Amino acid sequence: MGETDMSRRLISVVGFGVLVMFLATLAFVYFSVFAIPTRAVSSEATSPSRNTSYSSTSTTPNTIATSTATTPPQATATASAPAGDNTCNDLLVLVDKTHALPASYVPPDLVPLGSAGIPVASASLQGRRILLADLQRLFRDASSAHINLIVDSPYRSYAEQAALYASYVQQYGQAATDRFSAKAGHSQHQLGTAIDFSTLEIADRLDQSFATTKAGIWMAANAYRYGFSLSYPQGEEAVTGYEFEPWHYRYVGGANALALRQSGLIMQTYLQQFGPLPHC
Ligand SMILES: [Zn+2]
Repeated sequence: MGETDMSRRLISVVGFGVLVMFLATLAFVYFSVFAIPTRAVSSEATSPSRNTSYSSTSTTPNTIATSTATTPPQATATASAPAGDNTCNDLLVLVDKTHALPASYVPPDLVPLGSAGIPVASASLQGRRILLADLQRLFRDASSAHINLIVDSPYRSYAEQAALYASYVQQYGQAATDRFSAKAGHSQHQLGTAIDFSTLEIADRLDQSFATTKAGIWMAANAYRYGFSLSYPQGEEAVTGYEFEPWHYRYVGGANALALRQSGLIMQTYLQQFGPLPHC
């Protein structure tokens, strides 16, 4: 082995050493720049919500929480309706078994219906002002046709619905209750546009016998002329989630009620296609 070989080997050993040191430096820089901040973020995400250990199950929700927490305006805008849109007041908003109004939602224009000349079961009953003129016209025309009608149950608050649902569950059990009563937030009555009608023909009761009364038959034929539509028709429980409620109408406005009728769809399907989801 000559002198040149020795120096070549020396150079390659030194060169290898330099390479190793270079890679080590790169690795150090990489971990200190990228890895440490990542850990810092995830620990931030964990500590404010709850003191959980870093298990794999708790990491995923916390990561999601971090991304929404760091960009609140964007997250809100994409998760809900377009900016500034309050769809809960929309006459076609979809409120059903899977789409709920928030507990805080109260319609903006509630008025006592009795003092507006509407026959009501109790003076405290309220509905939205937006439907008042059409409802007055409905009662005038019904009266002219010798139809006896009464408003039995219009607006119900979230709290009233919660209490009502709970009392039904106690009385009938949950499975039976879910066929005719909505959980709080899921009731069209919270919109202030749903009305349960009854008639003296059945002593103002709310049951399926309303369908065969003069009032029930008149409503089924004419309600759309006043902007009302039957929410839960017969034989549609699989779609609506509710058994036949011939007394329960929802005001969607004259043009919508006509379009709905002409579409041949039931309200649930129509709202699924054309109504906004509740955001407010
Ligand atoms: Zn009802």
